[in-house]
Amino acid sequence: MKILQFPSARLRIVAKKIINITDEVKENLNSMLDIMYQQKGIGLAATQVNIHQRMIVLDVSEKQNQAQKLINPVIVEKFDIQEEEEGCLSVPEFRAKIPRAKKIIFSYVDEENNSFQKEAEGLLAICIQHEIDHLNGKLFIDYLSQAKRQQIRTMLKKKRKK
Ligand SMILES: [Zn+2]
Repeated sequence: MKILQFPSARLRIVAKKIINITDEVKENLNSMLDIMYQQKGIGLAATQVNIHQRMIVLDVSEKQNQAQKLINPVIVEKFDIQEEEEGCLSVPEFRAKIPRAKKIIFSYVDEENNSFQKEAEGLLAICIQHEIDHLNGKLFIDYLSQAKRQQIRTMLKKKRKK
């Protein structure tokens, strides 16, 4: 598994809903968690590892010991706005403040196909919104100006050459 980096066109693919939670889906979720921890991320969407199915993993706990796997996550409702600095494993070493809902109600199914509806706030709410954006082919830098995105593209290109 490798993490796709901006400006890969594959990051723009809209992921498909998961109908059957197969062993392959479960294995992929575990591999996604491994690579997320390895890269010191707090969230990862399947899109980022070139799997175009609607699933994300995250862990916003301080000790990084509360892994969550969300299949077919959906934001049901959004409340208020917060603006915090975000980063992304697909846009390395770049951070920016992005407006997000402060509180969300979201739904998902787990690996045993149980459905849940929960509330999230703060960092967890940001993370879920960020990862669901990935499933829709959207990056956090899409909220910035085109000039800024061009700047990031040039910066990453230079870095890759090194
Ligand atoms: Zn990301």
